[in-house]
Amino acid sequence: MSSELLQANNLVTGYGKIQALWDVSLAVKERETVVLIGPNGAGKTTLIKTLMGLVPLWTGEVIFNGKPMAHERTDKRVRAGIGYMSEIGCFLDLSVQENLLISGQFLPSKESRQLVESLYDRFPTLQQKRKALASSLSGGERKILGVAKALAAKPQLLVMDEPSAGLSPVFVKEVIRALRQFRDTGLAFLIAEQNIKFLEIADRVYTLEGGRIGFEGTVPQMHDNAALERAYFGLKRRP
Ligand code: ATP
Repeated sequence: MSSELLQANNLVTGYGKIQALWDVSLAVKERETVVLIGPNGAGKTTLIKTLMGLVPLWTGEVIFNGKPMAHERTDKRVRAGIGYMSEIGCFLDLSVQENLLISGQFLPSKESRQLVESLYDRFPTLQQKRKALASSLSGGERKILGVAKALAAKPQLLVMDEPSAGLSPVFVKEVIRALRQFRDTGLAFLIAEQNIKFLEIADRVYTLEGGRIGFEGTVPQMHDNAALERAYFGLKRRP
């Protein structure tokens, strides 16, 4: 049996007549953390939304756990085990508790409540603020709520759109620390980012530029590539 959890093959899509992705293929294996890195406007959000069924695919296929998903509704993809954290991450006009319970709506209610309690154990800040509106949380706390909310759906793969957006470096570290904990539980991640800090937790990396995948490989392989080293790490290689 293949260990591929998610396979995206030759994805092409866009908005109206404007094409945004060209023949994009990527895969995430079970328990793997994959970071999709690219600059502003590269197409990261478009790709993540296409995987979740929020942007319609023009051509290509999305396979999860061996099942074709490209024509399934978003909620079916979530039920199948693909968790999603958008850039905003949570519903601002709901409480912390409501955000977590709404995310677990597809699970049996007892299981959902138990899972939410275990998430409070992992994220004590959220426990203290369970009745608070998400809008009253700090930017960093909202992101942690976003992570917890996505986890409350009990995903096998967590797909995240720029978890660092709007965060100070201290909170970026905090989010990375939270993600590390869950990598060890067997969860797989696909993280779209422009912040290279996230490469710290990457088993593999794809670069996305101008709607096309450029490089696919490991972080050490990125460092071995002079052009990538310059583009992403800002250093010039000695001749
Ligand atoms: P950012 O880091 O700024 O969010 P991104 O890598 O996520 O960038 P996308 O938001 O996916 O990139 O944008 C990819 C391309 O698609 C850009 O050229 C963008 O202008 C275009 N685009 C995105 N959303 C729309 C839309 N709703 N209508 C038309 N064009 C869009």
